[in-house]
Amino acid sequence: MAPWIDLSHPLTPGTPSYPGDPPLEARTLASVEADGYALAEWRATFHAGTHIDAPAHFMAGGARISDLPPERFVGDAVLIAVTPSDRPPLGPEILERAPRWEDANFVLFRTGWSDRYGTPAYFEGFPTLSEALAERLACAGLTAVGVDAPSVDPHPSVDPDPSANPHPPVAPYPAHRILLGAGVCLLENLTGLRALPEGRPFRLLAVPPSIEAEAMWVRPMAWLPDSDDR
Ligand SMILES: [Zn+2]
Repeated sequence: MAPWIDLSHPLTPGTPSYPGDPPLEARTLASVEADGYALAEWRATFHAGTHIDAPAHFMAGGARISDLPPERFVGDAVLIAVTPSDRPPLGPEILERAPRWEDANFVLFRTGWSDRYGTPAYFEGFPTLSEALAERLACAGLTAVGVDAPSVDPHPSVDPDPSANPHPPVAPYPAHRILLGAGVCLLENLTGLRALPEGRPFRLLAVPPSIEAEAMWVRPMAWLPDSDDR
């Protein structure tokens, strides 16, 4: 078995966009048959498909992908297995399943939600992180927190009636704000997490192209060199 595990969904013209974001548009500008060469133009946000959010996604003046050094996106990762009996939003007690998670650079939550990818059900009722869990994760100097679901916050994530709850107002996207505000990036729309070990760290490589943007598509790869021995 190859030691590399691909944790990304392929980007295709049918890649779904987050609800409310414009749909991905793929155009053919030239083809080998007609023009002698192929040239494509794709229009999409960087949040369609497997991607990484940088602090600039929610923080004015926050770090963009290009502001972060590439070596930051290589490191040790731990997997936390979420079971159907864990009721979202997930609380900080779930971290007890990986006692040494604070030594890692990446913490990935395996919920199994990626099985719904490509269906409308993918964006409905997916597991999310509580504020308390985000606050706990924000203290450890992680590079990124990852989920095999569309987002770490529910959709929609707006205060339905701010006037009804003014003290304090409910800030939308709390897990995004807490984690990105602490410099912790977010890996969203991951897949393939079933191939990863529970209870022992593994290497993860998730280097995005250097782009002056708030997020970028990425193809995270887990490295399991001794996977033949298991
Ligand atoms: Zn995103």
